[in-house]
Amino acid sequence: MGIFDEMAKYGHEQLHFFQHRGTKLKAIVAIHNTVMGPALGGCRMRPYETEEDALFDVLRLSRGMTYKCGVADVDNGGGKSVLIGDPNADKTPEMFRAFGRYVEGLGGRFYTGTDMGTTPQDFVHSQRESTRFVGLPLEYGGSGNTAIPTALGVFQGIRATARELWGHEDLAGKTFAIQGVGKVGALVVEHLVHAGARVYITDVYQPFLDTLVDTTPKANMLGVVAPTEIYGLDVDMFIPCALGAILNDETIPQLMCKAIVGSANNQLLDMEKHGAQLHDLGILYAPDYLVNAGGLIQVADEMKGYVPERVLAKTNSIYQMLLQIYKLSKEQNIPTWLAADRLVEARIETIKDFKSVRI
Ligand code: NAD
Repeated sequence: MGIFDEMAKYGHEQLHFFQHRGTKLKAIVAIHNTVMGPALGGCRMRPYETEEDALFDVLRLSRGMTYKCGVADVDNGGGKSVLIGDPNADKTPEMFRAFGRYVEGLGGRFYTGTDMGTTPQDFVHSQRESTRFVGLPLEYGGSGNTAIPTALGVFQGIRATARELWGHEDLAGKTFAIQGVGKVGALVVEHLVHAGARVYITDVYQPFLDTLVDTTPKANMLGVVAPTEIYGLDVDMFIPCALGAILNDETIPQLMCKAIVGSANNQLLDMEKHGAQLHDLGILYAPDYLVNAGGLIQVADEMKGYVPERVLAKTNSIYQMLLQIYKLSKEQNIPTWLAADRLVEARIETIKDFKSVRI
């Protein structure tokens, strides 16, 4: 693999490889774009089969973070880190301290926190060596559970989508199919039920389903369905809060919903192909990196000194931003994901321009 070619393809600024043999740390940090501010993105730990797989993942994910930061209007750019190893077998406190020292050595160009395979507790070790870790537990000065603002952002996305579809945000009696009722999905269900909506739910973990069935008023609970049945339900909106790549050749033909608004990352298997298919079918797709940005907004806020009211205000603004994207999509007759990308690219260009002013 030509590393510089790969960086040029995705538009990256910088790539770092770290190795510490004593702690078996093998890490890659990719910094995609710092026009808007220091790069920010989670740290993923996976037993990647090859170094190329790890590199591909970190390049793609860090680019995605630039768009997510841009659309959420936080003062950060895109970055990401990956640790090569098995999160269930290879973690040690010393590995995370070593990682902390390397990240600190980047001099504030990159901030990181949890992602798949890592937990806030892992970075309690890292923060002993570095001030560049966010999403820490409350008792370590962090902002706590990011699922709370993430679910609120998804709910604001649902309200904006309702306005776009029906001209109002009244969700009473409207129907929703929620895929995945883990940390975010369960809270989205709470918001929906509070608004008088009716829900179908699915998950692969039975205890989460049982809890929700027990705690949701019967009038609002339409039922639990098998994971494969969730796509074909005749509902107003489909709410994916589990896995990525679930909008694909197999699932899109099954959809009966009017809109898709969920927290899962990278829902479109192929952005161009499947984004265009949804557009042609007239199914409104709320770009995932906008509606799931609440968690990012919260951890970015930690860097400024966490103010809950500021996080709430910014997360609520996902509503307006999504309406703007729907407007752009209609005016230009382009899929919503492309409208979102264009909006972010224009924003980055403007910021780049005024940042050229010497102060
Ligand atoms: P989670 O692990 O708590 O919940 C995911 C749920 O999906 C689990 O209950 C799991 O059993 C279920 N699931 C897995 N495979 C499934 C399948 N095939 N069908 C149905 N359910 C299935 O994760 P979370 O924190 O709630 O995040 C949900 C999604 O939102 C993830 O894609 C995550 O990347 C994304 N996201 C989360 C945050 C956050 O702040 N937590 C922020 C941005 C994006």
